[in-house]
Amino acid sequence: MRIILLGPPGSGKGTQAQLLVQRYGIVQLSTGEMLRAAVAAGTPVGLKAKEIMASGSLVPDEVVVGIISDRIDQPDARNGFILDGFPRTVPQAEALDELLKAKRLKLDAVIELRVNESALLHRVETRVAQMRERGEEVRLDDTPEVLTKRLANYRSQTEPLIHYYSERRKLSTIDGMMAIDEVTRAIDRQLQALGAVEPQEAGKGKTRSAAKTAPVKKARAAKKSAKKPAKAAKKAAKPAKSAKKASKKAVKGPRNAAKKSVKKTVKKAAKKTAKKAVKKGAKKVAKKVTKKRAKR
Ligand code: AMP
Repeated sequence: MRIILLGPPGSGKGTQAQLLVQRYGIVQLSTGEMLRAAVAAGTPVGLKAKEIMASGSLVPDEVVVGIISDRIDQPDARNGFILDGFPRTVPQAEALDELLKAKRLKLDAVIELRVNESALLHRVETRVAQMRERGEEVRLDDTPEVLTKRLANYRSQTEPLIHYYSERRKLSTIDGMMAIDEVTRAIDRQLQALGAVEPQEAGKGKTRSAAKTAPVKKARAAKKSAKKPAKAAKKAAKPAKSAKKASKKAVKGPRNAAKKSVKKTVKKAAKKTAKKAVKKGAKKVAKKVTKKRAKR
């Protein structure tokens, strides 16, 4: 299951994402968390992002697209993921579409948590007070001034995504002002209605793909590749085609420089995935040939 949680800062995306992680055994991919980790580790990305984040502005699209592309390729994301805080702009959403296409992955749903803006400031103040009580370090961007800027950014740059995903029939809107467990139940119901999770398994922690389709698909693929190694190699080489497609699209006439560099990142990522797949396919075939020869 692959979903996006959309909502302004303080809408409860992080809380709901963690609950979904526990329930369905998928991973939470939060660009905010990844960037904070990069800042703490002092990596080149972290050094670039530090000031931008402290001021409440958005980190350049190509930076976050690159981070997400690499993260999606990690083994723990294979079973599914929740994107929290990404995408945040229309170019990021377009880049994500291309990335998923190149990686042959499907987005199940975009869940928008709709909240009353005047309540957000209060929520963030409460969160900060609780963190201080627990002796935890408080985020530099959790101040009323920076929050006002982050909210303004959300309205101007992220809210257009509501239209973007509703046009693509992916959007489900949920009242984020309800109690935490009520929001969780509403998300569950929505995921069931969309067929992303098994109705009878909801609450037991199984996504539709994990419960049903994955083992069947695995068995079918194993049977096929055992019979026709050449076909398996061909299949593994297929992502190279989509990388080619993505690269063609990338040079088709980008609207502006930012878009161009995002597309470049996507192209690079697609090529990387394709290369990996080809290598894997070739290895598999070589193994089979050696086995056959040994038998003879
Ligand atoms: P968050 O934890 O999601 O509120 O993100 C904290 C900060 O990280 C944001 O205010 C941005 O500066 C940066 N950030 C996180 N995700 C993104 C993104 N998708 N695009 C650009 N900047 C981001």
